[in-house]
Amino acid sequence: MLFKDPVCGKRLQRGKAHIVIEYEGVNYFLCCPRCQTEFEHNLKLYARPELGEKAKKLTQVPHRRHS
Ligand SMILES: [Zn+2]
Repeated sequence: MLFKDPVCGKRLQRGKAHIVIEYEGVNYFLCCPRCQTEFEHNLKLYARPELGEKAKKLTQVPHRRHS
């Protein structure tokens, strides 16, 4: 599966990304340190959940509803 670098638009394979950044429950794949810096400085601009992958952490936690 390929993920899109939200900064430069390059398509990245999971293991080929420079870094994976989790933001608001979504993992974003960045191709290089430059994109990482750009992303970190403009999170609200680049963080688009449809480009990333839902962070596993959230789905692994069992849901417990108080009802
Ligand atoms: Zn990039």
